[in-house]
Amino acid sequence: MKYDYDLFVIGAGSGGVRASRIASQLGAKVAVAEDLYLGGTCVNVGCVPKKLFVYASEFSQAYRAAQGFGWSEVKPTFDWATLRDNKTHEIERLNGVYDNILTKAGVEVLHGRATIVDAHTINLTDTRDNSVKQFSAERILLATGGWPRKPGFPGAEHVMTSNDVFFLDNFPKRVLVQGGGYIAVEFAGIFNGLECDTELLYRGPLFLRGFDQQVRDFVAQELTSSGVTLSFNTDIEKIDKQEDGSLKVTLNTGEIREVDAVFSAIGRSPKVQGLGLENTQVAMKKSGHIEVNDNFQTAEPSIYALGDVVGRKELTPVALAEGMALANHLYSGKDIALDYNNIATAVFCQPNIGTVGYSEEEAAQAGLNCEIYSSEFKAMKNTLSGDPGRTLMKLVVDADSKKVVGAHMVGPDAGEIIQGFAVAIKAGATKEDFDNTVGVHPTAAEEFVTMRQVARVNPADDA
Ligand code: FAD
Ligand code: NDP
Repeated sequence: MKYDYDLFVIGAGSGGVRASRIASQLGAKVAVAEDLYLGGTCVNVGCVPKKLFVYASEFSQAYRAAQGFGWSEVKPTFDWATLRDNKTHEIERLNGVYDNILTKAGVEVLHGRATIVDAHTINLTDTRDNSVKQFSAERILLATGGWPRKPGFPGAEHVMTSNDVFFLDNFPKRVLVQGGGYIAVEFAGIFNGLECDTELLYRGPLFLRGFDQQVRDFVAQELTSSGVTLSFNTDIEKIDKQEDGSLKVTLNTGEIREVDAVFSAIGRSPKVQGLGLENTQVAMKKSGHIEVNDNFQTAEPSIYALGDVVGRKELTPVALAEGMALANHLYSGKDIALDYNNIATAVFCQPNIGTVGYSEEEAAQAGLNCEIYSSEFKAMKNTLSGDPGRTLMKLVVDADSKKVVGAHMVGPDAGEIIQGFAVAIKAGATKEDFDNTVGVHPTAAEEFVTMRQVARVNPADDA
């Protein structure tokens, strides 16, 4: 049977763009459908605008720190509209870059909402006039990503999510952040740095569940010292909008807060609604993510899925790697051998968290005999700046093989620094390899190769 396309990709985000481009370069006839924005979440309402906001939020501290180095005091003012609009222009430029990359690679870019009719047929609705075109494809790839989950308490319609925060008309002066994951912690830092009175509410005893415990404790201490109020074991019961537009927020502790905005970051759900999956054999996991095998194939053999909608690790580089692997598998016959271990990640709070490999607790759970090396210090810059911020560095070493199985940092530029150490850990470096590496001086990163004192041994036995 002759199809319109070899591969029809739904979603031009990180995973979809990479898969389309590589598949087309390998000779497949490819179309990608996108109903919102080229580049997907990462480029439009995720990593990129978030990082631009992180940069913006770091200037308030930098202005203060400059005085210790002899610069005169300045009273800077922050203009939200300038940041928002400059960010939007940059994102529009990137949307054009993505269009160009795809078109140059020979991918047909189709604007509209795709719905699956059957295992080889897709309807594309033009969202401007609701006109529908039908296409056929030998294979369909679902790369539809995720969407912010909304809370269910009374007044939840007044919260903003990460989809809204990049486009606000007015920047709040007082904000409550709900959640204790990546987005909540990053945005607590952004709001605080942009001089907004910021309180983070997390339902559990300590945020950043899943990260190394020592890192979590340290980040809590550092965020507090940077000015963010942290309220753990606390959540929102209801929100009432007041006549002046402010929000009266009732907490489960019985306390009341009056704020200008509530930013809710309680996780993301896979975007599958209205996709027509009921017309296929595609199976779902309990979490709502699409079930795939090692080759990203769903239970419907002609349909594949990857990225956030599959939910293995909801990170852009993972979606990119999956897109690349699938395209190579389908169109150059290569096996997919994606290794999800030792994926480095950063939380761009202030200071950053950079982490790769096992946490101390994970190493213990895996039954490893561990040696823990850790160091806490004041970075050189903060000696003159007066900034109380401290840095934490930590290595988890398998005492039997002597391999470094985890590296963690909380401190300025931890996201940048951890990338290189991820290569070393991926390559199986031992503690001796770290010790034999001559440091770069004076840097914070050199601490990773100069820690000699074991702080704790065999945490599995201590637990
Ligand atoms: P997406 O990028 O979400 O792309 C899916 C695309 O499919 C979207 O453009 C959507 O409009 C389109 N689509 C959906 N349904 C249809 C349909 N029926 N028809 C047509 N088109 C459709 N990750 C990092 O690694 N580092 C970070 O710093 C980072 N920061 C983040 C900050 C925020 C605020 C958020 C929300 C996420 C962040 N992430 C970060 C996560 C990262 O953005 C995602 O893991 C990544 O974008 C997933 O890529 P994807 O291709 O699976 O999906
Ligand atoms: P996460 O899953 O990371 O965190 C969700 C947070 O919300 C958790 O603290 C969770 O608590 C809490 N929560 C969940 N449900 C509720 C509820 N009903 N009421 C109150 N709190 C609740 O999600 P995010 O939204 O922060 O981010 C989504 C994903 O995007 C991340 O997991 C990450 O993969 C990716 N991302 C990556 C970034 C990066 O690489 N720098 C930056 C931003 C996002 P509990 O722990 O108790 O379940």
